[in-house]
Amino acid sequence: MQNLVFRPFSSATSSGNLPMIDHLNAESDNKTLYLILDASSDPILITSPEVKIVYVNSAWEKLTGYTFAEVAGKNPRILQSGKTPKEIYQKMWQALKKQQSFTNYEVIDKRKDGTEFNVRSTIYPVVQNDKVIHYVQIMYDITKEKQLEELQKEFIAVVGHELKTPITVLKLLSQLHIAKAKKSGASLMSLTDLELLGSELDRLSRLINDVLDSSRIETGRLHMKFEIQDISGLIKNVVEKMTIINANHKIVVRTIPNASVIGDRERLEQVLINLISNAYKYSPENSTVTISAQIIRKNVVVSITDEGIGIPKKDQPHIFDRFYQVRKKSRIGFGLGLYISNDIIRRHKGKIWVKSQTSKGSTFSFSLPIIDPTKAKYKETNRF
Ligand code: ADP
Repeated sequence: MQNLVFRPFSSATSSGNLPMIDHLNAESDNKTLYLILDASSDPILITSPEVKIVYVNSAWEKLTGYTFAEVAGKNPRILQSGKTPKEIYQKMWQALKKQQSFTNYEVIDKRKDGTEFNVRSTIYPVVQNDKVIHYVQIMYDITKEKQLEELQKEFIAVVGHELKTPITVLKLLSQLHIAKAKKSGASLMSLTDLELLGSELDRLSRLINDVLDSSRIETGRLHMKFEIQDISGLIKNVVEKMTIINANHKIVVRTIPNASVIGDRERLEQVLINLISNAYKYSPENSTVTISAQIIRKNVVVSITDEGIGIPKKDQPHIFDRFYQVRKKSRIGFGLGLYISNDIIRRHKGKIWVKSQTSKGSTFSFSLPIIDPTKAKYKETNRF
C-alpha cells in the first residue's frame, strides 16, 4: 500500500527530474487520494503543465504494459501509434489551451510490446489561480468494442456477398429453364439442376436462420420449448439426416447410454447438426466422424470427434464468440454456429467445450444434466 501511495514521489525523488505535485503531497490526506486513483479500474494518467507524466495508476500500467518508473517524466506521446488522425490531437490542444476539458475522444495507442489498443479518453486541465497545474487523462479501453465493430462490418460484407451468390445462381437457373421451356415446350429440370437449386436454397436458409438466431440471442428472444427428451433418439434422428446429406465422410456412432434430459428438441438437434456439419467442413473427405455419449456425474456428455485440421490453442478460447473464425479467408461459414450452440447449451444448464490439436482433429463435447423421466415433475409446455 505504501508503495502505491508514494509511488509518484519516490520515483520522482530517485530520478530527480520530475516536477513536484505540491498540492498532492502536501497533506497526509493525499495518501487516500492516491489510493482512490489507484483503485480505479479505468486507467488514469496525470501530467505536469509541461506534459510530463507525473502519475499513472495500476490500471494504466496494466493496459499499456509500462510501469510508472519507465514513463515518469516522459511525454504521453510515447503511446502514440501514428494511426490516430492528427486533427484529434489538434482539437484536444485547442480545448486544453482554453482550459477546457476534451471528452470522449478515441485514439489508437500502442503498448510497450508494440501491440495496439483502442481507447476512449477524457482529458481535463486542473486549474489553480488561473494556471494549469496538471492535465488528467482518464481512459476507457474500447479495444474489444472496436474488434467487434470490425467483425460486424466484415460480417455484413460477407453476408451481403454470400446472399448474392446463391440468389444469382437461382436466378440464372430459373432463367435458363424458362428459356428452355419456351423453346421446347417442356419445363422439366434436370436432376443436377434440381440438386444445385436445393443445396443453394439450403445454404441460404441456413445463413438466414443463423443470422436471425444470433440477433434473437442478442435481444434475449430465442424462445425454447422445454420437454423431456431421450438423448439416444435425438442423436439417432440427427445422424440419419446427416448421413443423407453427406456421403463423403464415415459417421460412426458409439454406444449411447439411455439418458433423458429436459430440452428443446429442435434446438438440441440444431447443436448436433452444427457440430457434425463443422466436423464435415473441417476434415478431409473419407475421414471418420465419431459420435459418442457417456454419463458423467449426473450429466450426459455428448462428443463429436473429427480427424480434421484442428484448432490452434490460441484460437480455442474464442471460437464460441460471435463471428469468430480461425481462418478468415476460408469462407465456408459465418462464425455463428458455435456462438448459437453455446447459447443453446447454456440455456439448457449445460456446458460446451472443445479439445483439439492442429492437424490431428477436434472433439467438441457438450454436457446436459440428466433427469429421471419417471420422477420428472415437469410441465411439458413450459416456455421460456
Ligand atoms: P463457421 O460457420 O465459420 O464454421 P462456427 O461458429 O461453427 O462458424 O465455428 C467457428 C470457427 O471455429 C470456424 O470458422 C472454424 O475456424 C472453427 N471450427 C469449428 N469447428 C471446427 C472443427 N471441427 N475443426 C476445425 N475448426 C473448427
